[in-house]
This record gives sequence, C-alpha cells and structure tokens, in this order.
Amino acid sequence: MINKTKGVRACTLAALFLTSASFAAPAAAEGEVNIYSYRQPFLIEPLLNAFTKETGIETNVIFADKGLGERIKAEGANSPADVLLTVDIGRLDGAKEMGITQPVTSDVIEANIPAEYRDPDGHWIGLTTRARVIYASKDRVEQDTITYEELADEKWRGRICTRSGQHVYSIGLFASVVAHEGAEATEEWLAGVRDNLASKPSGNDRAQVKSIYAGECDISLGNTYYMGKMLTNEKEPEQKDWANSVKILFPNAEGRGTHVNIAGVMMARHAPHPDAAKKLIEFLTSEEAQRIYADSNYEYPVKPGVPVSDLVASWGELTPDSLPLAEVAKNRKTASELVDKVGFNDGPSS
Ligand code: FE
Repeated sequence: MINKTKGVRACTLAALFLTSASFAAPAAAEGEVNIYSYRQPFLIEPLLNAFTKETGIETNVIFADKGLGERIKAEGANSPADVLLTVDIGRLDGAKEMGITQPVTSDVIEANIPAEYRDPDGHWIGLTTRARVIYASKDRVEQDTITYEELADEKWRGRICTRSGQHVYSIGLFASVVAHEGAEATEEWLAGVRDNLASKPSGNDRAQVKSIYAGECDISLGNTYYMGKMLTNEKEPEQKDWANSVKILFPNAEGRGTHVNIAGVMMARHAPHPDAAKKLIEFLTSEEAQRIYADSNYEYPVKPGVPVSDLVASWGELTPDSLPLAEVAKNRKTASELVDKVGFNDGPSS
C-alpha cells in the first residue's frame, strides 16, 4: 500500500484511496499527481518515492485490479485521475479507444522509449516489456531453441499447455502472428496448436508450469516474469519446484524475434495536473526508474542500454520482435475471432 504522508482513507469501491491531500479538488497546484494503477502498490512504491525525492511532487495512488478505466470514463471531466498505469497492449489500446486518454508529446519520452513501444499518437507509452516464451520441461524437452510456428508440429501432439486463447496475453501473441503471417496462415497454425494441446486451455501462466511439473504436458506458453515470481515465492514455496522443473526457450530468437508485450502508462484525458503528470511519465522513462520498475517485477526495461537484473539475465538473451505494438493492437480483433473460429478453447479435436 502506498501512503505518502498523512494516512489512509479507504473508499467504498473496490479501489482504495491512499492520499495525503485534496484528491477531490482538481484545482490544486501542480505539486501532486494522481495515479490510477492496475499495477500493484509494491511494484510502484519505490518508483514514486524516487520521483517525489527528485521533483518534490507528491503522488496519490488508487490501486484496483479492475474497473479503473470505466471509473475514469464515469468520472468524466471531474475525474481526479492524472495517469493510468496498466499492463498489456490490449488494455493500453483499449483505454485509448474508450476515449479516456490524451496524447503526450515529449522529447524526453521520444528519446528514451523506442517508437515500437509507443502509440504513434502518444496516447500510451510502454515502460517495461515482458516476453511470451516457452516454458519447457528440463527432463522431457532436449532442444534449446524453438519457434512459435513449430508449436503446430505433430511432434508436440498432446504435449502443450496454455491458458485461454482469449486472454489478453494470448491475443497479443496471436495478433503478432497475424501481423507477420496473415490471417489465413494464423488460422491454420492455431488449429494445429489446438490439436497439440494436452487439455482444454484453463488456469493462468503459472498453472501451466505446475502442469509440466506434474507431468501433464511438456511445454507451455507463459510470460517471462512468472519465472521470477515462482523462483522467489516464499508464500507458496512449491512454486519454486515448478519453476526448477522447466527452462525458458525464447521462440524465434534466430528469426523475427520473440513476441513481447508491454506494461505502460497513459495520461488521463481530463488530468487536473498535466504538467506534473508529464513529469512523472518522463521520470518513468529515465534510466533510474527503468531499472527499478523492471527489476521489481522481473521485466525488461524498454530504454535501450538499461541492464536487466541478474535473475532475468540468467534465463538467456531476449531478442525482441521489433513489430510495433500498435500493429499488434490492430490485429487483436482478428486474432480473437480466429481463436473462436478454430475452437481453440475447446482443446484438441481428437
Ligand atoms: Fe501477468
């Protein structure tokens, strides 16, 4: 929980207000910035402390795991929200489509963040990346390279585990395949992958690794940072066993690169403190912040030259697909339709 100064004020909604000052009085000076965050407090607290230390600007955070976009929309012109922090291109672009964001132009941001990780109109800015990789059984999978394409190969029959094909993480990957290969080839590929599934898609990324550990499948699709979350999980130490039973393979490392998605930030359309908000966003793209933010969740910094943590580096080298995330966003709808068309979530047909 983030509690910058004078205490916690709980709110009746799903979210929690944690604020020191007049959160409901948008006319206040530029000395504060109001953050709506889908990212957990522990991930952003160190960053916000560093920001306040550097700029003197106080931060107020509302954290929730759903409904913040709808809330900003409902609050309209009176919304106290200055910035929104979230993960996945689907959610970032979705917020832009909802009309709750405004473009940010900044030389600092443009210098720090490569164009493929920013909205061309400036509505969303990527801050960290995560790769959608293959978790493979150390015991039962010998190969150390893989491609997304070969997941449709017969040799994987009955050996693949994955979460729902309609989850935003899956859709991001499938949309990148549509962008590279076209809809027809993607449909064929998805049908092939479906037939190689060990069972109907269910559970989250970590549950698939648990299934590998249990011998129910040999490979799974998952985001990189879950390896870090499992390896360091003191609350559920059995997750360390799941993680230690697998290795990470970075698909298409030799070719177009591995699909990456982003965690990012947006400025709210009616931000009451736009100058402070811009300062915060610029700060989040700085080397100092990139390092803290990426390390806190075992992600990759987007600013070129900022090193990854030792643990993340130990999984191997990431060569990211350079396809702009805006192209991924454009193909999300097609990807989602194809998932339904091939009955991906029904599991293998035979
Ligand atoms: Fe996640």
